Amino acid sequence: MLTSAIKRIDHIAIVVRNLDDALAFYRDTLGVTPSQIIDFPREGVKIAFLPLGGPNGSEIELLEPTSAETGVARFLEKRGGGLHHICLEVPDIEQAIGDLRASGAMLLDDSPRPTAEGRGVFLHPKGAQGVLVELVQRATPTTAPAEEATSQGD
Ligand code: ZN
Repeated sequence: MLTSAIKRIDHIAIVVRNLDDALAFYRDTLGVTPSQIIDFPREGVKIAFLPLGGPNGSEIELLEPTSAETGVARFLEKRGGGLHHICLEVPDIEQAIGDLRASGAMLLDDSPRPTAEGRGVFLHPKGAQGVLVELVQRATPTTAPAEEATSQGD
């Protein structure tokens, strides 16, 4: 079991075939404005970040594959667009990995991989109730309101 509490839902990642079409829905129908759109060649995707709920809120991330050789591209071909993974923010990714290994969790990464937010690991959907789950330690951690007084990053 994780020995440090999960801080928040960091983001929900949705695979889309075309970012502009997807943004037409999120921006023009739901009224959510992207904070930035980046190329993330390491994972072969373009990412649009749609922040919700202020500085300690969550984000929807729209992922458009930019290379056919990636997991995200294969996902799109096989299943069409849709929910790809959920991401939970943890305070210490190494500790989380150790805790999960001790619990026998099905990790897809041996060590943290660089992500758009910081460093993360993925858990296989087969061991996570059918959903691909990412844990991330943010390069710039968010501060949950209850922690503001005591947080000091030991
Ligand atoms: Zn993610």
